[in-house]
Amino acid sequence: MFFVIGLTIILVALACQAAPQQRRQQKAQVVYSCTVPNTVALTFDDGPYIYLPDVVNALVAAGVKGTFFFILQVFDEGGCIYTPAMVSNVLYAYNHGMQVASHTWSHPYLTSLSQDQVVSQMSQIDLAIEQITGALPAFMRPPYGAFNDGVLQAAAARNQTVVVWDFEWVIVRTIYRKSEPLKIFALGPTSSGDSTGASPAQQMASYDALVARRPNTVLSLEHEVYETSAHEVIPYAIQKLKGAGYNLVTVAECLGMQPYQFVSAPMAQQAVSCTKFLISIPPSFTDFFNCMKPGNIPSTWHC
Ligand SMILES: [Zn+2]
Repeated sequence: MFFVIGLTIILVALACQAAPQQRRQQKAQVVYSCTVPNTVALTFDDGPYIYLPDVVNALVAAGVKGTFFFILQVFDEGGCIYTPAMVSNVLYAYNHGMQVASHTWSHPYLTSLSQDQVVSQMSQIDLAIEQITGALPAFMRPPYGAFNDGVLQAAAARNQTVVVWDFEWVIVRTIYRKSEPLKIFALGPTSSGDSTGASPAQQMASYDALVARRPNTVLSLEHEVYETSAHEVIPYAIQKLKGAGYNLVTVAECLGMQPYQFVSAPMAQQAVSCTKFLISIPPSFTDFFNCMKPGNIPSTWHC
């Protein structure tokens, strides 16, 4: 009898302790801006894509870092993160010290999906990144920056922080909206300047204007999937921001947080052994592609 009463008291006490924790984790933290002074986090969405190595090379050449938010069904119709070329690009970013993070499976408006679909969108890209790199992302970005309570609850259940941004290239709508981040969602469906026809010159001018304002921090949105972005605008932005004295770091670094929930050996050892050809200087792409033949991708990896 006393045992039963004692056990009941212990269980009630544990439940009371657990309840506040569950409430705290109910919705994920949403980040609009960096918190570490004088940092810039350049973020690149919608890859991996063919221009990724060029973007990484521009960052490496400048001695800085960036963050890549990947999707599973990549930019080209029928594309897939699990193709050998895209696996190599993911590893190219990761092995050069860039942060990799989640941007969903197929880039939908998460706010229009059922909760099960939201969870599926998040879990499949997390699994892909974890399988390819061995690292489970601690950050995710909802496509179009669109989220609701269900999205935040799903992210919280995955122990992930939701990242939006406070600067993008959109000329016609707004250039810098750090002071009013909630308007991002009030505006409804959005897209960045590079996908709404802003010319490279306009996009570069927006960085000139940003540097002229000299905010304390910047969390910038770019897309690695546009040729002019990768080859003209991003290199310009890197030099412009670095020249202004900013520290260009990853999203995790600009927040003083950890980029991954854990880092372990990639599930495909073949992929690991192939990376040595990429991180050699100069990279040996011939050896890499000989190593990373389609048959070397595990059959369970598919989009
Ligand atoms: Zn996107």
